[in-house]
Amino acid sequence: MMLERARQRLRSAQRVVVMTGAGISAESGIPTFRAAQTGHWARFRPEDLASPDAYRRDPETVWAWYAGRCRGVQAAQPNPGHLAMAELERRQGKGFLLVTQNVDGLHQRAGSRRPAELHGNLTRARCESCGLKQPLNAQEPFTPPSCPHCGTVMRPDVVWFGERLPPLALAQAEAAFSSAHIALVIGTSSLVEPAASLALLTLDTGGTVIEINPEPTPLTPLATFSLPMSASRALPALLEGWS
Ligand code: NAD
Ligand code: ZN
Repeated sequence: MMLERARQRLRSAQRVVVMTGAGISAESGIPTFRAAQTGHWARFRPEDLASPDAYRRDPETVWAWYAGRCRGVQAAQPNPGHLAMAELERRQGKGFLLVTQNVDGLHQRAGSRRPAELHGNLTRARCESCGLKQPLNAQEPFTPPSCPHCGTVMRPDVVWFGERLPPLALAQAEAAFSSAHIALVIGTSSLVEPAASLALLTLDTGGTVIEINPEPTPLTPLATFSLPMSASRALPALLEGWS
């Protein structure tokens, strides 16, 4: 059985890299990008809120959207999928990197120590003038924070449409995927670059790719093992029976 073979491979792998997308947080009740456009926000497209242009035009509206999403993720709890990834990091020790496209901070709350965040984190604010980052206080009544160092009004610490990914996180991810014996790709549609092509680095260097997604993606036909399961069921099952 596919799950059993994937489990055996994972168990003996020295270097493991994990990539997660919005799907791993879906079972914590965090909506995917488009599903977050409800109620008042249904009038906006994500591109009209998550872009540098939108922020320059109307920072108040963009901040209100992020503050609401921040309150949403703070009210949510990590699920067994996030917990399993923190457990895998403890077992693997040094030969492990968790890369995430998620901006919800649930991996850290589940115990993951050093995830490489490719798209930033909406529970943080960042100063564009001096680079200072700090946790966001999104409680109502909400006002955008000012930088405690230089006084500039801060922005959400997320990567917007048209912006570059954080170079350090990207370099870490590329190095880990290129040298991994196993890459686990979880809950991502594998459509958005460069996340989509990272798994190919692992395949090109002879590694194994295990995909976990209830729906097929462009990666499905290429993956060594494809488990059409939810993350919260598949990940604890992959770690079962180790000691
Ligand atoms: P995505 O492109 O990563 O697609 C979500 C994938 O998850 C789909 O392929 C779906 O089949 C799969 N999925 C759904 N339920 C699942 C489950 N229970 N277990 C495993 N897989 C499951 O995500 P998106 O929503 O299109 O987001 C695009 C970008 O928007 C992200 O890369 C991220 O930067 C941002 N975003 C982040 C969050 C978050 O932090 N939780 C939420 C929404 C959007
Ligand atoms: Zn500053």
